[in-house]
Amino acid sequence: MTAALRPRPVPGLGAAAIGPAEEALVLDVLRRQELFRYYGNDPQRPPQMAATLEKEAAALLGLPYVLAVSSGTAALEIVLGAAGIGPGDEVIVPAWSWISCFTSVVRSGARPVLAEVDASLCLDPAEIARLTTPRTKAVLVVHFQGAAAAMEPIVLAAHGRGLFVIEDCAEAPGATYRGRRVGTWGDAAIFSFQHNKPMTAGEGGLIATRDLRLYERAVRLHDLGQYRAPHAAITPAREPAFAGGQYRMSELTAAVALAQLRKLDVLRDHCRALKARITARLARLPGITLRPLADDAGDFGFELYFYARTPEIAAAFRARLDALNVWCQQRTGTYPQYRREYVQTGLAANPALSPFRGISPWPAPGYRAEDFPRTEDLTARFVALPLGWKFTADDADYIAASVEAVHGEICFGEPSRPTAKTAVTSPSATPPAAPRPPLSRDKVPSSPH
Ligand SMILES: *Cc1c(COP(=O)(O)O)cnc(C)c1O
Repeated sequence: MTAALRPRPVPGLGAAAIGPAEEALVLDVLRRQELFRYYGNDPQRPPQMAATLEKEAAALLGLPYVLAVSSGTAALEIVLGAAGIGPGDEVIVPAWSWISCFTSVVRSGARPVLAEVDASLCLDPAEIARLTTPRTKAVLVVHFQGAAAAMEPIVLAAHGRGLFVIEDCAEAPGATYRGRRVGTWGDAAIFSFQHNKPMTAGEGGLIATRDLRLYERAVRLHDLGQYRAPHAAITPAREPAFAGGQYRMSELTAAVALAQLRKLDVLRDHCRALKARITARLARLPGITLRPLADDAGDFGFELYFYARTPEIAAAFRARLDALNVWCQQRTGTYPQYRREYVQTGLAANPALSPFRGISPWPAPGYRAEDFPRTEDLTARFVALPLGWKFTADDADYIAASVEAVHGEICFGEPSRPTAKTAVTSPSATPPAAPRPPLSRDKVPSSPH
């Protein structure tokens, strides 16, 4: 442990990596004065930024169809609509997921059915068998904070029941599962370019699929029902027109998104190397358990999670790490859905559009905290250590040393204090933890299902 309190590194992923490449592409759009993707100065030759983003993303994923849209949430709403999911249908969604994983299903008219996560903090594959009913149409999988969900058992369980698999890759672009990129395992995938994501353009999203019909319907849904020439050149229109929305991406957004897409794997490899440095040391500490991943090698690595034995110990870890200038709050706001206001009310914009209308009392079983003992337990006990583009190997070593020092105090009551200057003694915040035998690593409880 170094003697001085190390300053906090500048946080951030894609946003922290913005530089000359983004500037050059944005300036190109501005100087041409062509900000709309479907036509510019020459009606015969539309500008190419959004089209190039789609082409390069498709090549990276090895998928035939990618569509740029206005946000990750828009992408979710479009995929659900394009897949024909609507009133009377059910979609399985992990209880621990981003707001729009739930709200996009509600806005489609279908009912989100909440599933427990496992210790990877992704959908527990066993939940698909438990929750599927004759009304279930799809499973929405979230690759939580950089790491792939267990796609093989998930796809087997879902496809075996005729369910459509949507991969939400907003938090894990560039991650792989068994050597193949996330977004290529299911039937359709979404990505986000919101500010807080590994790739950012402030806002923006992508839909990726190998399903031709889904692509055509997604194009129509995102562009007022239209199917313009650049898309017809990729695959001709077959589906009848229907009333769509307007979720197009602008050329300016596409310029930033394209520069960021080109940096994705470099950013990932940087985070991965830092995480590996820290993990090697934390894995040796008894009494804490690293987040077990479906594919460790495929993790993006921008956030390292470990579990403490109790929520109180996790809170003490966070307080003391924070006092040591270690970032230890989750980067992305993900919540148990059942604790959110829109779930507790069960409302849609118009009450008649709510898939929960008429259910009484509400919240019904399946939408209350007590129905998710495993998700409750796991999400109360983790400590998250975000990494970022501006973090160095020395930062990583300091994070590892800080966790070791705090661990020594909290788990064994041994003040192996890193420095006299650090405010790591706040007795009220730390329950007296029972000493643990050094070699008995805690096991995260196995699934009750
Ligand atoms: C951020 C996020 C989204 C939505 O993306 P936006 O572009 O902000 O609409 C969807 N799903 C997950 C898991 C996310 O983290």
